[in-house]
Amino acid sequence: MTKVLDLFGFDAITLPTRSIYIRPHLIDDQPLIRHELAHIAQIDRDGAFKFWPKIVFDYFWHGYQASPYEIEARKYESSSCMFHVKQ
Ligand SMILES: [Zn+2]
Repeated sequence: MTKVLDLFGFDAITLPTRSIYIRPHLIDDQPLIRHELAHIAQIDRDGAFKFWPKIVFDYFWHGYQASPYEIEARKYESSSCMFHVKQ
């Protein structure tokens, strides 16, 4: 999985299986965890059949930073919620 992260230059990724993969040295990075959990919430809200095609389309059409799902997920990075990751 690390090779996939390297390919895209990501520190973490949410997978279609509703799983999150985070680089081991970032496992306690709360903003990063909240960002990825926001993607899980987006999947639950919009459904997988909308989320996955749209986030891939937006990645190529708008770019990563300007993707609407990414913009929304970044808003949750500064939340005060704490999460513990199961390793
Ligand atoms: Zn994201």
